[in-house]
Amino acid sequence: MRLDYLTIFPDYLAPLQLSLPGKAAAGGLIELHVHDLRAWTHDRHRTVDDTPYGGGAGMVMKPEPFGEAFADLGLAAGTAREHTTIIFTTPSGEPLTQELAHELSTRERIVFACGRYEGIDQRVIDHAAELAEVREISLGDYVLNGGEVAALAITEAVVRLIPGFMGNADSIVEESHAAQSGGLLEYPVYTKPASWQGRDVPDVLLSGDHGRIAAWRRQQQLERTAVRRPDLLHPAAAATEWEIVPAVRADAGELMTLMRACWVQEAIEADDLGVPALHETYEQVVEGILTWDTYAVRTAGRLVGSVRGRLAPPPEGEGQMWDIGRLCVAPDLQGRGLGRLLLEHIMRVTPAQATSYSLFTGVHSARNQRFYKKAGFRLRPDLPAPPKAVVMTRRR
Ligand code: SAM
Repeated sequence: MRLDYLTIFPDYLAPLQLSLPGKAAAGGLIELHVHDLRAWTHDRHRTVDDTPYGGGAGMVMKPEPFGEAFADLGLAAGTAREHTTIIFTTPSGEPLTQELAHELSTRERIVFACGRYEGIDQRVIDHAAELAEVREISLGDYVLNGGEVAALAITEAVVRLIPGFMGNADSIVEESHAAQSGGLLEYPVYTKPASWQGRDVPDVLLSGDHGRIAAWRRQQQLERTAVRRPDLLHPAAAATEWEIVPAVRADAGELMTLMRACWVQEAIEADDLGVPALHETYEQVVEGILTWDTYAVRTAGRLVGSVRGRLAPPPEGEGQMWDIGRLCVAPDLQGRGLGRLLLEHIMRVTPAQATSYSLFTGVHSARNQRFYKKAGFRLRPDLPAPPKAVVMTRRR
């Protein structure tokens, strides 16, 4: 890839020679050419700006130096349009995103026109659009003094995506905003020593259990994204408050889909497709809604959680029990406290005659058992349970 920079402050772009971009240039992966725009002026003062037509504060960058520069750089109408992009850095441009950086990393040539003062005469941009693809790009919703910092930032974001640029290609795959990260922010990272200034690296990262580490990282990504950039999440995932309402018959289709999403995952983890919830027909889900006290959480138009309870005939020697079941939370919202909220809710609406709560969960589902134990339930291997399940109870 060849990169050209048109600027009135060429020294500002000296950092391009540092670090990885410099190395990539030395290795021939990219070619960097920084040009002083004043080289294309012809007056004694090397003037690149003039007062704005129509009045107003500040100065505007003149069209002629840019026009001549484009011509000298070999940008002419009909040449290499499909391979070349001219970038105008401007606060009124499209935002720089990882997706845009990926797109730009496929170009053979990028020419940056760095603005100063109040910006560049509009005719330069219109003219450039006849020579190449034009992108007007903003670093963010704030105003810099000039386009050089933006050009540096865009360069870094783009060239590190060129195949062969990064020593370890995996580091690009997992980071924030990468498609493979599901558009989430990156999880927190740690290195040695394991303890520093009284702060310890989270135990899970030292456990060597890759499954648990992956689950922890995913959870951190979701939490971080929800707190820092809720705009990156589905509105339901960005919600911090949930309203729990009685489920109605019309919820059955969505509820069945939600249960499949939750229990297929559990079945895969336990390597056992026998989970009862997975075998319910649509009619049985409807019946469940009608015969149990079933609750649902619906947010941003999605059904994202559910739980149900009913009075059950007590096992011998036990008082009246409130049977709790089908506690499920949409996969992208797990770990956000919604499961605990649903459990608290179903315990709160327990009829007066029940003296304890009862539920069952997979005998191998350590995560679920941990969750219920934390809520005060204890394992009851003495009580009858469905195959491969274990009953847990808690006194009211
Ligand atoms: N008058 C312009 C406006 O309000 O949009 C701002 C001009 S700014 C002082 C000078 C130059 O800095 C711009 O032409 C542009 O090249 C660059 N610049 C400023 N903020 C930027 C941003 N957020 N992203 C990219 N470039 C920016």
